[in-house]
Amino acid sequence: MSLKIIDVKESALQIIEGQFHGLYSGTLGVSSIKGGQSAANLALENLDITRYAEQRSEVQPFEKRGATVLSPYIRHNLLTLDQVYRAVKDAPFKDREKFRDELYWQEYSRHLYARLGVRLFENLKFEANRDSEGDGWNRQMNCVDQVITELESDGWLVNQTRMWMASHWTVRNEKGWLYGQDLMYRQLIDGSRAANLLGWQWTVGAGTGKPYGFARWQVEKRSPGTCFKCALKKNCPIQEFPDEISPHQLVKDPLLDNDPDLPRTTGPTTPVINDQAKFVLLTIDSLGDADPALAANPELPVVFIFNEVALAKLQLSSRRIAFYLETLQDLSTRRQLTVYLGDPYTFTKENPVAITFAPVPSFKKFENLAQLYPYPWLRKPYAGSVRSFTSWRQKIDKGSSQ
Ligand SMILES: Cc1cc2nc3c(=O)[nH]c(=O)nc-3n(C[C@H](O)[C@H](O)[C@H](O)COP(=O)(O)OP(=O)(O)OC[C@H]3O[C@@H](n4cnc5c(N)ncnc54)[C@H](O)[C@@H]3O)c2cc1C
Repeated sequence: MSLKIIDVKESALQIIEGQFHGLYSGTLGVSSIKGGQSAANLALENLDITRYAEQRSEVQPFEKRGATVLSPYIRHNLLTLDQVYRAVKDAPFKDREKFRDELYWQEYSRHLYARLGVRLFENLKFEANRDSEGDGWNRQMNCVDQVITELESDGWLVNQTRMWMASHWTVRNEKGWLYGQDLMYRQLIDGSRAANLLGWQWTVGAGTGKPYGFARWQVEKRSPGTCFKCALKKNCPIQEFPDEISPHQLVKDPLLDNDPDLPRTTGPTTPVINDQAKFVLLTIDSLGDADPALAANPELPVVFIFNEVALAKLQLSSRRIAFYLETLQDLSTRRQLTVYLGDPYTFTKENPVAITFAPVPSFKKFENLAQLYPYPWLRKPYAGSVRSFTSWRQKIDKGSSQ
């Protein structure tokens, strides 16, 4: 497959309309959350987590939301978890602890995905409906419609409504979670398989044995006024919580207890220099100026390749692609950058590149690397149990600095 140059001088929407035919789904649009290192830096500068602990789950009105909306930047390492962790060192104790706990959830998802790989697409510890086809979101309900409208038009949701939608899809409406997570993944501009799969597995009970129930109660508490405007307010399908169930426990997966190949999970811990590099190749897992391969090679030209085959299959939303384009446009003001549509794996076979390790299954397709740089973990993976967040957290957090 040949490489096609994408000229990033046009607007993101013009580029998508002109050059991404058949490679995205839904209507054309951009998110209100701007892509790029400059936007990420500004968001970090303005970060104020006072009252985060109390307000992080608020949905409506927008002014009451305590969520920071940093996730698109964190997901693509425009802001590293370590950077964000340190940025809140002077915040009020309760808010700082709660916020850092959530950063750890992000790190936990990365550790899980790095170790388990595509196994994370299967029920992890308990049986849950994974495979039934069909749409689990009835949009006659105002609460569901509002959330899905926000997802489709802005590509982002607070954690609370992500849980509502995952629960409604599978716990209440008995549709396979794999399809629901795919739909969400396509639209979220922070979409990561690690966090999205973890979020779905934990909400529907596959990760915990305790499915999260979604009912009118949460909507009235977190989004007052929504039910009042609902056509089904007198006939609410979620008036009561779904019946509690005790899902069947699956045979224990030894990978959850022990990592037989920790170096493979972690990637290199120091740079591996095999040859001189001619380019820095960026991947979506590390798009920031502090990307280790980029920072170590300040003089080298930079390349980013939209994976054409993957895009055709994934059908991401145009908002997500626009976020990448905005990020690349911003980078092109500081570095010599060429953006292509094509096959990034062939490029590394044919060109000596410097690249940063990414803890995702597809990274192993990059071969013949001239230079490989370590992934910016918040905490290095360990070989012990990742069965529960709490025990993982206790082990991993030892020795962390405040
Ligand atoms: C069904 C479902 C799907 C999800 N899909 C994704 C996804 O694709 N990508 C993604 O980054 N997060 C995902 N999450 C986690 C979480 O909802 C988002 O990270 C969070 O809502 C982002 O908003 P924020 O930046 O304002 O978070 P804040 O509340 O301000 O938290 C700060 C940061 O902590 C991390 N974080 C917060 N909550 C969680 C969590 N529950 N799990 C993991 N990390 C967390 C994120 O990096 C976030 O940016 C999902 C959660 C659920 C329940």
